[in-house]
Amino acid sequence: MKESLLVDKYGRQLNYLRLSVTDRCNFRCYYCMPEEGIDFAKRKDLMTFDEMLQLSTIFCNLGISKIRITGGEPFVRHGIMPFLHQLSGVEGLQEITVTSNGTLSARYQAELLSMGIRKINISLDSLDAQRFHYITRRDSFDSVYNGVFRLLDAGFDVKLNCVVADNKNIQDIIPFIELTKNYPLSVRFLEEMPFNGSDGTQVLSSWDYKKIYHYISEHYTDINRLISDANSTSVNYKISGYQGSFGIIPSFSRTFCGTCNRIRLSATGELRTCLYGPPVTNLRNLLRKGASVADTGQEILNAVALRQRDGYAAEALSNNSVNTSMSALGG
Ligand code: SF4
Repeated sequence: MKESLLVDKYGRQLNYLRLSVTDRCNFRCYYCMPEEGIDFAKRKDLMTFDEMLQLSTIFCNLGISKIRITGGEPFVRHGIMPFLHQLSGVEGLQEITVTSNGTLSARYQAELLSMGIRKINISLDSLDAQRFHYITRRDSFDSVYNGVFRLLDAGFDVKLNCVVADNKNIQDIIPFIELTKNYPLSVRFLEEMPFNGSDGTQVLSSWDYKKIYHYISEHYTDINRLISDANSTSVNYKISGYQGSFGIIPSFSRTFCGTCNRIRLSATGELRTCLYGPPVTNLRNLLRKGASVADTGQEILNAVALRQRDGYAAEALSNNSVNTSMSALGG
């Protein structure tokens, strides 16, 4: 793996950029935004694909080797596929992955595979159409669910992300694990995070990673812990004899900050060195002011130098902006 110049004062190398291409989405998941939506960015405020390509090239020059395309829902942004084609040609970029809600991704399967994009995370919080509707406020369970198997059939490496919450989908946990019996799926159970676009009065789910694991361990006696990547946020397991695996992501407990290799760029150019922290700078503005490649690169290096130890320290700097919608942050 190439050395990254993006090294913070704790010695963490950043080589993974999460790039949001839009804050818009065709879903209204309760843990991400209110039913009425958010104050979506105006088109002029969204980075253009050229700006995203310029910045991605600068990031890769600094040591980024993996870019995850996120949103909102990335496939609602018109022109995303030609952009991905260009992005897949950026020097030094070894991997492009995608996070989607699964409604639109299936139609681009062949094109994604032709660019070498075969890792996709699909947000799916229930295997029951009614609960799915209750959670996403959309009636799209069948297209998302069937889309998962079309992706698998086409040879994609599919991970399902399920946000676990009281009174929402606890009864889905075991059915999700049973799905891994006959399919090479990786199902990850996430703790609910506060990025829901609310006024901060909403009470988050009490189901943390310990409670989720305990619940699962009451249903299975043969759970095997898997060895995961050093930077993995997920603690992964496999039931003996099952094709797939499951993982638990302590996304609110933030137990994995010590090996965090991630940096985030929102669709409006806000650079965050931590999901829980405030934006450190705005790279879109810098580009639009005519900044050089070198100055933009220096701005990114300066931001990394200021990085906080973990998500708690970063949250302390956030002036209560932690309720910003995940759709605006870029996930
Ligand atoms: S909370 Fe912040 S520091 Fe911790 S893993 Fe997430 S992005 Fe990295």
